[in-house]
Amino acid sequence: MSCSSSSNEETRTIDSETHIGLQNAFVKVTFKKKTGQIDSICNKSTQDNYIKNEKGGNIFRLFANTTSMPYLRAGAQDNAYGGILIDPHSCSINSYSVKEGKDLKTLEIVYIHENTQLQVTLKVELHNASGTFDTHLAVKNVGSKPVSVYTAFPYFTGICLGSDKNTNLTVNMWDRGYPGVKAWERPIGGIYGKDVSMQWQTVYEPVKKQGFAFIVQDKDFSNKVMSTFPEGGMASFYFDKKRIDAGKAQIWPSAKILAYNGNWRTAAKAYHAWFSGNIETRKVPNWYKEEVTTRSSTWFPDKKAVAKNMETGQENVFTSFEQLHGLFSKPIFGNDINDCMEIAMWNEGVNRWPETYGPWMSSGFIDFRSDLGGLEAFKKGVETCHKYGRRVAMYVAAYGARKTSPMFEGDWEKFAIKNRNGKPVLDYRQGDEIYGAFNCPGYKPWQDNLIRVCTMLAKAGVDEIRLDEFGFPFRPCYNEVHAHESPFNANKWMRDCLKRIREATDKINPDFFISTEFYMDYFHESTNGALIMDCSGSEIDAMKVAMPNYLPLSYHASAPEAAITGAIMSKTENQRRNWAWSKVGTEKPDDYNEDFVIDLRWHELHPTFANAVTYGDVTEWDPVAENDSKWMGHLWKSEAYWVLTGGHVDATPLKEDKVLVRLPELPENVKVAYEFNVETLEMNEVSIQHNDKGTYVALKSAVSAVLFPLPNCPALPIINQHIEQGQEVKITVSLFAPWQKDKQKTSLNNIECIAPGFHVEGDLDGDTRIFTIPLTEMTPEGKFYYTVTGDCLKVKRWFEINR
Ligand SMILES: [Zn+2]
Repeated sequence: MSCSSSSNEETRTIDSETHIGLQNAFVKVTFKKKTGQIDSICNKSTQDNYIKNEKGGNIFRLFANTTSMPYLRAGAQDNAYGGILIDPHSCSINSYSVKEGKDLKTLEIVYIHENTQLQVTLKVELHNASGTFDTHLAVKNVGSKPVSVYTAFPYFTGICLGSDKNTNLTVNMWDRGYPGVKAWERPIGGIYGKDVSMQWQTVYEPVKKQGFAFIVQDKDFSNKVMSTFPEGGMASFYFDKKRIDAGKAQIWPSAKILAYNGNWRTAAKAYHAWFSGNIETRKVPNWYKEEVTTRSSTWFPDKKAVAKNMETGQENVFTSFEQLHGLFSKPIFGNDINDCMEIAMWNEGVNRWPETYGPWMSSGFIDFRSDLGGLEAFKKGVETCHKYGRRVAMYVAAYGARKTSPMFEGDWEKFAIKNRNGKPVLDYRQGDEIYGAFNCPGYKPWQDNLIRVCTMLAKAGVDEIRLDEFGFPFRPCYNEVHAHESPFNANKWMRDCLKRIREATDKINPDFFISTEFYMDYFHESTNGALIMDCSGSEIDAMKVAMPNYLPLSYHASAPEAAITGAIMSKTENQRRNWAWSKVGTEKPDDYNEDFVIDLRWHELHPTFANAVTYGDVTEWDPVAENDSKWMGHLWKSEAYWVLTGGHVDATPLKEDKVLVRLPELPENVKVAYEFNVETLEMNEVSIQHNDKGTYVALKSAVSAVLFPLPNCPALPIINQHIEQGQEVKITVSLFAPWQKDKQKTSLNNIECIAPGFHVEGDLDGDTRIFTIPLTEMTPEGKFYYTVTGDCLKVKRWFEINR
């Protein structure tokens, strides 16, 4: 079938001698009457039929009465597994019809497979004004004997966008999802919950700017393998075997299919629309949005170090939980500027078993460390942190526990995830020494233990817990004690486990932030974020668009990377710590300079731009530097302004004076731009140049943040800070807003300065406002901050007190 375009927007029926199908102004979908196969999905605007295999592209594949378990891996499922493989072309079309609904038409094709007497009903729903259609599959046993079925739906083959399959890209859906992978070179994907973290996949083609995607609308997050494979294949294979008795029917989750014009981000946004419309996810707590720019991690010193500190009798050494706040400015490792700090080695377990002081801390413990003063000292420590506007996150090991932990009452194997041979999964070890097992999140007593630990922390005033080790939840468990309905229901157990933890902490603090080690879409029902280990290179990761409120917390990432990708930063340094962890994400580029080490001040710019960079929207396409291939960046949108973050990811200076950056789009009413040097905070005005090739800005900084204010953008406070140690911090503020039509709109009286833990005095002096923070002998040493807020953009600055 040709891809001729039609100006008629309404969905119409195609019913020719050879084909049955639907079309509107955006897409045409047809099935061959002879073989029953889908043979066209035409993107009307690019005149491209995505199904390049003339024989057709399937759409479903069933496996009836199999005798062996299917391979649970990415790739084509060409094996009948000892049973019967059923494709549309091995069936005959029994009937077809088109029903008319409000703004849509529904094509229904009924197939019959003679041998098994399975009747397959496929429905295709196409709305009037959209290139997206929903597909539904039901299988009925019209014979007299029961039939067992595995189903792959959708199961597409022969897909290629454009004429050259090498230009087709896809997203590796591991963890946060990394775009830019060659679509058809090798199978990509795998088990949902192990290799794949979201229920969608797309193939896109940046030259013609078009894409093809499917979204599995599975609210139960059932067991499946989702993959793309070299045969132009895209599939969701459900590996729970379903028995269909005579006269009975089974349905599988419907799939939304998109033929779109744009980048992979269009498909990601469609997943966001489906997910947020069907699953209730956690909102970002307000305090997190308002206060957290920098989130790092550290440990409490070990028992020996604490004992040694005690002996010195000095006040400024760490001997008690009460000094928790001191760790924010003087951590034993990690960043020294922190809004929120995750701290490990807090439990008595590391005293009882000193060898667990290290990366293998466990959670089968009893209480807060006694050598640091126990619960009461801990509560006081948290209170002091809150006084100075700091937030406390605590580490919790979510899988591992010591075999000798008293909670096991001598029978640790009862809790363990066991393999099919009944042996505990021994991931909790160092070399040959096995400390314990990974405990099963589907075993209620282990869930209860996690709830006990998390609520204990929430009650002590902690703001966040990070459930370390959680992520990649697909870990089959055959432990008979757990009486699992199926050993493969790990996603189900994990979902239930996280929900129970959240329900318990919600009763104590509904604004509690819960994070994990890795990402999984349904975790977001109960959790707020996780650590990003991998590097997305010049791209952003797929979750940034598909799940915008599921926060990325930098771990190995450098400050420039956090600035460029919009993640919550963990360190002020320009160097990344580790590159790709698991064959995914970007490896270190050849031109990355590891000898160049500097600190940036993104932690002082982010609060001003967070509404766009972290909590806003991103453009469909990225800005491009035409004279510097090392430069990378993204353009972010908020209501009041747009902002571009970009530069050299290692923060090395530009090779030439300026880099010329072409913008993918810009609102017409943005007339002026301001470039901030992320290293120095220096600001300069940038002219926006329009020519027939596009819209350009010329930038000077190694890493920049460029503000594009819309006419309603509040004024930017210009800050001048002076510290007289032992006496005062003096902050002079003037307001800058040449983009505002009514220049007198903002009054200096409508701004304020807040420095948590400090008293601030305000004074008006002509067109500047002067804030003073008096310092006394009682003021502790360390790093502190203030924010200037009110009728202006928010600005946050840090100051250090020392003696
Ligand atoms: Zn189990």
